[in-house]
Amino acid sequence: MTIIERFLKYVSFDTQSDESAGVTPSTEKQMVFARYLKTELEELGLKDISLDENGYLFATLPSNVSRPIPVIGFIAHMDTSPDMSGENVKPRIVEKYDGTDIVLSADDHIVLSPKSFPELLDHVGEDLIVTDGHTLLGADDKAGIAEIVGAVSYLLEHPEIEHGDIRIGFNPDEEIGLGAHKFDVEKFGAKWAYTMDGGEVGELEFENFNAASATVSVKGLNVHPGYAKNKMINSLLVANEFVSMLPFGETPAKTEGYEGFFHLVGMEGEVEHTSVSYIIRDHDREKFEARKCLMLECAGKLNEKYGEGTVSVELKDQYYNMRQQVEPLMHIIDLAFAAMQETGVEPKVKAIRGGTDGAQLSFKGLPCPNIFAGGLNFHGRYEFVPVQSIEKAMKVVVKIAELTAKRY
Ligand SMILES: [Zn+2]
Repeated sequence: MTIIERFLKYVSFDTQSDESAGVTPSTEKQMVFARYLKTELEELGLKDISLDENGYLFATLPSNVSRPIPVIGFIAHMDTSPDMSGENVKPRIVEKYDGTDIVLSADDHIVLSPKSFPELLDHVGEDLIVTDGHTLLGADDKAGIAEIVGAVSYLLEHPEIEHGDIRIGFNPDEEIGLGAHKFDVEKFGAKWAYTMDGGEVGELEFENFNAASATVSVKGLNVHPGYAKNKMINSLLVANEFVSMLPFGETPAKTEGYEGFFHLVGMEGEVEHTSVSYIIRDHDREKFEARKCLMLECAGKLNEKYGEGTVSVELKDQYYNMRQQVEPLMHIIDLAFAAMQETGVEPKVKAIRGGTDGAQLSFKGLPCPNIFAGGLNFHGRYEFVPVQSIEKAMKVVVKIAELTAKRY
């Protein structure tokens, strides 16, 4: 099987996850795909293959040298986004893309156009795998799975390339934020790993936001409005005061790159009580802590003005920047960097303005930066992936395995 045949086979499985399920895997159909993948890994002759009841599939490509080399891992997720159907995906390959509009569905006038998606023009001359306009493609993250299985198969066909034990892991439910949840890091047993789950060729990510949520509760005092002078406390107005005390420009709509923010996500109330919800994000841990402190200070000032207990803030940390876990092990980034350069890919280090499974794994003790899988326009009908990008990502996986053996 070629890597593209593998990919096309994988997207024929509907593996959409479901936020409301409350079990892992969140949908039984992910298990169906996991069982299929397991047979592929068995046919390849991998060792220590295990599929647990939560849908985590692990396997080992054993070392082909006698000296000790650190065990490394590659991880990808099996589910697709709940945002768009992944049922009955009908992929099509547009060969040698010429830079013009791609009609995905003539009947329904669905067109993938460089006018809306200029990144298409970076792939002129390549072979693009696109949808029929009615489902997502599922390159996120079945491209990642194909790249990992493809790399393992390549290494098996090329025994002259020395490598240590390579662990591979396929997990369910990444798209609903639970991919790392029941990932048994100890059983996986790698020193470090890479998720193959990024977008454009060259992406290398090992920084994400520190994240917290905040709920601000404001108590008011209601009095007949005709007789309220110096008595009424309108919680809506106090909440409004609180909102305006936070730095005006530090919102998602006004920030980018490494700039953090306060994001007002909800406001609900009447005179007696108002509740305001925020999420707080910052790559820098100190600035992140300072943001939380600022919220408490604002509450303190308002309590001085309106009386103790008027405003209270409940803060809850959600996740942290994996950089602090990865930084003491910069060689794992250097390896990925070198592997890209040696395969002719220009590394593009980018800070994620969000969270990742890799971050959760990093804090569970498995440092885990993220590498491109090559797909674009994730989670919708315009998703596509160039054949050449999948091949490049596969070569990067092979090269990381090779360099790890060379350097240790
Ligand atoms: Zn993904």
